[in-house]
Amino acid sequence: MAPARKLTRTSLFDRSALMAFLEDGLGPKRKDAAAKHCRAILHAAVRDAEAGLDAVDLSESRVPGIPKFARDQIPERFALITTTIADCQTSKDGSTTKMVVELQDGHRVESVVMRHDKGRVTLCVSSQVGCKMGCTFCATGTLGELGNLTSGEILEQLVHANRLFNDDGTGAGPRRVSGTAHGVRNLVFMGMGEPLNNYDAVVGAIGPMTDPNAFALAPSRVTVSTVGVVPKMRRLVRDAPGVCLALSLHAPNQRLREKIVPTATAYKLPDILSALDEYLATGPKVRTMIEYCVLGGVNDTTECARELGELMRHRDVIVNLIPYNPTDVPMGHSPPKMEDVRAMCALLTGPEFNQFTTVRHEMGQDISGACGQLALKKGPSVGNGGAGCGTGDIEDIG
Ligand code: SF4
Repeated sequence: MAPARKLTRTSLFDRSALMAFLEDGLGPKRKDAAAKHCRAILHAAVRDAEAGLDAVDLSESRVPGIPKFARDQIPERFALITTTIADCQTSKDGSTTKMVVELQDGHRVESVVMRHDKGRVTLCVSSQVGCKMGCTFCATGTLGELGNLTSGEILEQLVHANRLFNDDGTGAGPRRVSGTAHGVRNLVFMGMGEPLNNYDAVVGAIGPMTDPNAFALAPSRVTVSTVGVVPKMRRLVRDAPGVCLALSLHAPNQRLREKIVPTATAYKLPDILSALDEYLATGPKVRTMIEYCVLGGVNDTTECARELGELMRHRDVIVNLIPYNPTDVPMGHSPPKMEDVRAMCALLTGPEFNQFTTVRHEMGQDISGACGQLALKKGPSVGNGGAGCGTGDIEDIG
């Protein structure tokens, strides 16, 4: 269990808290009415928050029909935004913006906004403060698990990202909102933390994230990354249908995997592959990626690629080779030679396996916004998961 955090304010984007408040006020027999009011309030909250406002406007003319107790009490009980941007840096080429998000208890996490050639925008969000999984190439893992984000804090990262696109931050300029061609279109849970170790909050955030009345992202444009928390992988298939899965495998066999991902001893490869197959069986619309961080001298041989190809034979997945990024924290790993990565890619995509494989093009390395890089120097708990930030455009590999 992650250490408990002391939070005094509840984010209005915590849908379960808002629903509990409305059900409490309306009585247990009016759950449908509570759900309807919850949708209307969240709709207003998203629009006001993304327009840069600090409080939601719940006036009768703006949100007609909600109960008086909700109109009166929500401003006292909930905060539209509980987090702030402590730092924001954009890479020299303008492709990547790293936001350091300060939570209400002083913890800091990181979100990365990536702009792609065709104007599409991907946001990489954090789900935990630190991480207990201890992957040997990941600087976040050195922090240990310091706390879980609430679903509201996860969604507020999306609000902050969309605010970046508002011309003047007051909502007076052209609107840049979630789910549109101008706002964040793809969201990946590949920042700090193992999302499936904060399962309820992650699933709780995916609800409003993909609700057409709230953030309106298509489920197929939301990707949850995991190193393979098998029981939660199985639940996710049912609880968040249609979202994409990225399995951080990093090794083609159990022995090597245990060296790179310490938790591999708890979740063995056959069980992970069985959970993966359940995911793949949910249908062709669900895009599934196999993330493979290529570490120099560790898992960068054509033999490894051949084993990986055998493992993924007959599985409809995209293999994503991620050349390791050096970080500010010494991790004892070296980047691979690019010719070795290319040789792995050639073998996987060649006639022997015909496996759809990409080599990740890193964005934002000059601001430590790329995969596995950490910004500890900016605060006590800032970082990003090595599994993912800095991805190429997810729509391009679908
Ligand atoms: S790679 Fe992901 S799961 Fe592994 S330690 Fe880093 S944040 Fe945690």
